[in-house]
Amino acid sequence: MEDSERVVQLVPLLRLRHLGNRRFDYTVPAELAGEVSLGSVVSVPFGTRSVRAVVVALGPSAGADPDKIRNIEQVANERVSPELLVLAASLAERYLSPFEACLRLVAPPSITFGAASAQRRPLRWVRRASGSGPEIRLTAKQLRVCEVLPPEGASPIWLCEHAGVGRAVLRTLLDKGVLAAVDPLENDGGGAGSAASVAMEKRPVPEMASTAAISTGGWRLSPEQDAAVRTLTAAYRSEREEHRLLWGVTGSGKTEVYLRLLAEVLAEGGGAILLVPEIALTPQMIARVKDRFGPRVGVLHSGLSHGERASEYRRIVAGTARVVVGARSAVFAPVPGLRLVILDEAHDSSYKQEEEPRYRVRTVAWMRISGTKGLLLEGSATPSVESLRSDADQVRLSTRVAGELPQPETVDMRRQGGEQLLAAVSREALATVLRRGEQAIVLLNRRGYAGYVHCEACGHVMTCTDCELSLTYHSKERLLLCHHCGRSYPQPARCPACEQGPLTRAVPGTERLDQELRNLVPDERVFRLDSDVLTSGSRVRALLDAFALSSPGVLVGTQMVAKGHDFPNVTLVLVADADTGLYVPDFRAAERTFQLLTQVAGRAGRGLQPGRVLVQTWNPDVPCIRMALDRDELGFYQEELRIRERLGYPPFAELTRLLVASPDGGRAMAAAQHLSRQLAPHFPRQELCGPVRLPSLRGQVRWHIIVAARDGDRARGVLRQALEQLAEPYRRRGVRLLVDVDPEAFG
Ligand code: ADP
Ligand code: ZN
Repeated sequence: MEDSERVVQLVPLLRLRHLGNRRFDYTVPAELAGEVSLGSVVSVPFGTRSVRAVVVALGPSAGADPDKIRNIEQVANERVSPELLVLAASLAERYLSPFEACLRLVAPPSITFGAASAQRRPLRWVRRASGSGPEIRLTAKQLRVCEVLPPEGASPIWLCEHAGVGRAVLRTLLDKGVLAAVDPLENDGGGAGSAASVAMEKRPVPEMASTAAISTGGWRLSPEQDAAVRTLTAAYRSEREEHRLLWGVTGSGKTEVYLRLLAEVLAEGGGAILLVPEIALTPQMIARVKDRFGPRVGVLHSGLSHGERASEYRRIVAGTARVVVGARSAVFAPVPGLRLVILDEAHDSSYKQEEEPRYRVRTVAWMRISGTKGLLLEGSATPSVESLRSDADQVRLSTRVAGELPQPETVDMRRQGGEQLLAAVSREALATVLRRGEQAIVLLNRRGYAGYVHCEACGHVMTCTDCELSLTYHSKERLLLCHHCGRSYPQPARCPACEQGPLTRAVPGTERLDQELRNLVPDERVFRLDSDVLTSGSRVRALLDAFALSSPGVLVGTQMVAKGHDFPNVTLVLVADADTGLYVPDFRAAERTFQLLTQVAGRAGRGLQPGRVLVQTWNPDVPCIRMALDRDELGFYQEELRIRERLGYPPFAELTRLLVASPDGGRAMAAAQHLSRQLAPHFPRQELCGPVRLPSLRGQVRWHIIVAARDGDRARGVLRQALEQLAEPYRRRGVRLLVDVDPEAFG
């Protein structure tokens, strides 16, 4: 082997921001020759330490000095698949983030060195086109193995003994895809199982592999569900990458459609990922997937211990867990033969990662699916306007499987008077429902902490004339400030709309609502889903389970109570404050309000009893609230798109947010202005907003600049160059420069 062939380039899994996206050259020593390839995880001497690194290119880099190159020490048994290596590179490119940070997302959670685990051979799946695959004939010995195999699997030694066959027979069955090797550690979550047990995989019987005949284990599909399954299966079966949006009203049975598609993928020997916004809030979904597919399901979430995560990861890589369910980061699951990614509740804001790399799950999923020619399916009752405007074909479910969609009723708080947070009509409705032994959900959306300013008499909210975003009151300067464009306004003494009412900052009184409820309902019947509970997934599950069993009962909480829950005995939904999410400084405020109201209303009346939805609002005439109450989806989306287009917001522009932060206010300001001057020549004036001073956060003075570019690729090119040139000089002056492509948070 030539010397140059033995050199590889790798990226250490270390935060080395000051080195940028550098790769390092190392030599593969003779004893490891043949073991190192693209995606190999290795340990190398780095400075005085030994660190983990991923091989990202073969052959030396351009300026490598052969005399200084050190040797790779060890090669791990785990590696990054070529598909995920490419994904990490695309991600770094798309989100202007360090390659290293992206590699971390796809790197195995734990690695082992040495030969011991090298025996754990990955299973090879035979991919068969449905219905037309070659019939697999089994020899007498192979058949005997299948006959003696207990459903829960057995160790190879046990199997050989009981079937009276040698190891070679098992191996052939593995290679044919009739058996799968299962890691015994995965089931008992620990312990030193040495022999991999072998379990029978359900192989598709050819005539079952058509849509109609797939084992359902569920209901008879409604005609709409059935049509959706057919359309989506056809898309899935095409040889191209496909993108679909399943737009189905709340309670239309989207989950059942997902399950049928997943069955299809499994029957064909492929792999799938089902993403949910938040594992803790979706116990029902997980239970249903596990019910249907049993041990072929892997679950990934942040609540797993390191050992559990490593074990799930191994089952996924081995092809044992071929349906992976998880929150955001599960989009990186190393599923072999990935054919389908489903994004449930695709509009949910948790699908954006708020740390570097600040990726959007939808974009990542599409990158993966484009590589494997599979299907990306977004599902939602309230798709984002960006999803609607994407190239995804829409598949609609317009009716509920059971019950009727409730017609929300407006409770106009301007006419209520009194100090109570719950209007009289709301309190009566609650009492009635509880008397009947039914359940209620009360939403108290506290997202509006930003403290918008509104008129006590007419409800008018102070907004920026340029941006149509709410203004935030800054008490020190006594000014109203637009966080989007930076324009400031003096606070008027009286409301400019009605010229009478005094202006006040609205902060919803959560404590007061809690008290009011406890006066109406016995303590043990109130279930509060708040951020205290949310810190633990098991506590959330316990709380939701307890609520499910408690009739009468009231579930109170923030937008968490609006998400996907399916409690058939909930017959009343009360929205205590429809307005709080409305005037936050975010161009998506109207969309989020519309979505939240539609979603929470959708929790009512999912069983035999019809549901009632009462929405308390100070702004019944604000379009997004009015249209949510009228269930006028199309009207809302039309209006929203019109506004977005006029103001140059997504989906008509691609946003990038550049954030400059420093404990030193002068330096932060100087850097922000410098950055803005550097960028100005490259963008038309209207595409560059700022710099805007933001409220300080944890002692950091912060400024941001927002680029709203019609041509996203070009903008990213300019911004990448700027970052490469400026990040390091800023850093030396104590100023951090962060970039957020496709931002969803602006505070
Ligand atoms: P969505 O996710 O669209 O809001 P779900 O998938 O939660 O709706 O389904 C709503 C309810 O209807 C669930 O309780 C589900 O078990 C039930 N369901 C779904 N499909 C059917 C069907 N074909 N027949 C009867 N019930 C169904
Ligand atoms: Zn503004």
